[in-house]
Amino acid sequence: MEIACLDLEGVLIPEVWINFAEKTGIDELRATTRDIPDYDVLMRQRLKILDQHGYGLKEIQEVISTLEPMEGALEFLNWLRERFQVVILSDTFYEFGMPFMKQLGYPTLLCHKLEVDPETGRIVDYKLRQSNPKRQAVIGFHSMYYRTIATGDSYNDTTMLAEADAGILFKAPANVIAEFPEFPAVHTYEDLKKEFVKASRRGVSL
Ligand SMILES: [Mg+2]
Repeated sequence: MEIACLDLEGVLIPEVWINFAEKTGIDELRATTRDIPDYDVLMRQRLKILDQHGYGLKEIQEVISTLEPMEGALEFLNWLRERFQVVILSDTFYEFGMPFMKQLGYPTLLCHKLEVDPETGRIVDYKLRQSNPKRQAVIGFHSMYYRTIATGDSYNDTTMLAEADAGILFKAPANVIAEFPEFPAVHTYEDLKKEFVKASRRGVSL
């Protein structure tokens, strides 16, 4: 069997932090792993900015409740799930991701967790599932003799793409595409389907 490993933000759903930055007008919150490849540095910066402005989980979840998966994402995901076992490997948090999972028919999501002060709603810390979690998941699937095909849009996906039997960049920015020419880069779900078909060893078809 083959497992399709999908990044979440930028592949199936919009970037939560960018949307929150737009709603609040806090420009510094626009940074993502596309800009700051070290996730810990990025998250520390985000939590500090939230504190400075007095925002907590509730305010972020309010923005999330207005967001929907990217256009065509559900159709693509359903197409993929008919042909592969699908796992979403994300650097988001369950507190952010689950509302989207409802809209996507509850696919398997492996991601991180926030630590929230129940009194104030302040996000006090976050718990990474493990370090280099996307790559580790692929290593885990390989240890079970699954073949893996992975797709993502950003720096935090590249170790997963490299570890997988096949890696595909989807809607990646030009700098990521230029830095990782070894991965095919596509920008539409139709082309992404074709790359999955190409990468599969089981003769799956469109
Ligand atoms: Mg992403």
